[in-house]
Amino acid sequence: MLRCFMINYVSYKINPVSLEDITKFYNPLVINKFCSECTKHNKVWSCPPLPFKDIDYISKYKYCYIIHSKVYIKAIPSNILSEMVSHALKKYTDISNGKDDFTDIFNGLYYSFREFNDSKILQLEESFTNSIALVSGRCLICSTCTRETNTPCRYPEKLRYSLEGLGFDVAGIVENIVGEKIQWSSSIRPEYVTCVSALLSSDDIDPNEILNKLTK
Ligand code: SF4
Repeated sequence: MLRCFMINYVSYKINPVSLEDITKFYNPLVINKFCSECTKHNKVWSCPPLPFKDIDYISKYKYCYIIHSKVYIKAIPSNILSEMVSHALKKYTDISNGKDDFTDIFNGLYYSFREFNDSKILQLEESFTNSIALVSGRCLICSTCTRETNTPCRYPEKLRYSLEGLGFDVAGIVENIVGEKIQWSSSIRPEYVTCVSALLSSDDIDPNEILNKLTK
């Protein structure tokens, strides 16, 4: 139900980028250090440390499409926003810092947006054969990842990685390739929430076709 509403507030930008150009933003030493400070480090199978060489995962494909999506917080009517936020806070119990309402709103909206966005990006795999999605953060499929108990992933066929999890500088990609800026909740009071995903493909795809599928 919430998903139906979200489509009204999302704007997408699709940027095709060569593997050579995206590799300029591969910086695992710096990015993995950020990841190591995250509370989910070593606790989710989609995140570092990964059991394979991350750059090899990308190198199997010929084309990369960066999918930038953004939702302005104030554009969402307050009753719908509050439903989205309480849905996420109830489901992801560790995302509320309990310090201030705005952080809860930002985090709650981000996670509802992630759910919406992940399902859209995954549908692209069905539309474009020989492609695989990169979602915009850690895997959200199970409430507790089996990595916490050091047991194999429950749904390896559903597990998808992210650009940051593979060692890419997502802020750099957004600024230099997309021409946008991510607003983090820790710096200023953000106006919008951003998800950065990608589609890797062995085939050349018209970016407008991707956009059409996402906005349907
Ligand atoms: S599918 Fe479940 S077990 Fe596998 S990585 Fe995602 S959260 Fe963890």
